[in-house]
Amino acid sequence: MNAAGDRSDPVFGRLRGEPHRRFNPLLDEWVLVSAGRTHRPWQGRREPSASDVLPPYDPGCYLCPGNVRANGERNPTYDATYVFTNDFSALRPGTTTERIEDGLLRAEGEEGACHVLCFSPRHDLTLALMPPDAVRRVVDVWADETAELGRRYRWIQVFENRGEIMGASNPHPHGQIWAGSALPRDAAKEDAAQRQYRERIGRRLLLDYAGQEEGGPRAVEENDDWLVVVPFWAAWPYEALLVARQPVTRLPALGNAQRDGLADILVRLLTRYDNLFGLSFPYSMGWHQAPFGDGGDSHWQLHAHFLPPLLRANVRKFMVGYELLAETQRDLTPERAAAEMRAASRTHRAADDGWPATDESVPATAG
Ligand SMILES: [Zn+2]
Ligand SMILES: [Zn+2]
Repeated sequence: MNAAGDRSDPVFGRLRGEPHRRFNPLLDEWVLVSAGRTHRPWQGRREPSASDVLPPYDPGCYLCPGNVRANGERNPTYDATYVFTNDFSALRPGTTTERIEDGLLRAEGEEGACHVLCFSPRHDLTLALMPPDAVRRVVDVWADETAELGRRYRWIQVFENRGEIMGASNPHPHGQIWAGSALPRDAAKEDAAQRQYRERIGRRLLLDYAGQEEGGPRAVEENDDWLVVVPFWAAWPYEALLVARQPVTRLPALGNAQRDGLADILVRLLTRYDNLFGLSFPYSMGWHQAPFGDGGDSHWQLHAHFLPPLLRANVRKFMVGYELLAETQRDLTPERAAAEMRAASRTHRAADDGWPATDESVPATAG
């Protein structure tokens, strides 16, 4: 495991070099894979590198300890993690649950909550650069928030949006937890797919998938409790799926060792991401855990998705045209992406050659 380079893939070897479609059993949809198209000339937009060296404390940051936020409240001088209700929440407690139906026009009130979680008091860190015990504290808060909000709400969405390119409004290391009363679109699709698989096969879909991928051409990292794989059906170039290897439905159910193992594999994955192009790698990541209050949940396997937008350094993948109008399409095969991620060092480059890297790493073939 973890050897760099390609691993043989006898099953899909013949299709790999030709345009083909792959099935995503979690969302019950297909993705078009057009290998080799990454060689095409690129004269479009280049994303600027975030080349500023950040200070450990920024007096103008509304997430740093002791600073005043937009609503006039002052953050405590926290020294580990800090959770507060989003000052501009997309979902709020006490919202009307009224339903309106008029022919084809349907609407319903949606009650919920939006919390912000500062991962660290340090303005200049990321999860990849935080010590394992500090990342473990973030895991604990994710679990505690899930348990707390799950008493009242059905779907708890823990996520992190990282990097300006992803629209992150502030570089301070932080994530969010949104809780809602309805099952959102992708949650409903994944719930239905996993439920049907359980009814038909008698096992959990994602546990079977993890078993099929371990040590294979798409596996990137694994430890006793977790597996990271570039999914066979990945939409984004360097997309990753993090799956628990034992049956577990939600973060609060994770034991001590599983939480330590999670902190460990998170840092390993995010370090490989940063080292891939020598820049602080942007992504959206989020946990998918069983909905609350739906009765049986033995079909659901806890997992997280990492959806990074970059195709190359400073060149992002746009989901436009065919992707918006027909179906998702990718150029780089998931096997190639996984091999590149395995080849990226597990030791963070910031440790030995300064951070962050400049944008000089755009390959000549990219233009
Ligand atoms: Zn800050
Ligand atoms: Zn999912």
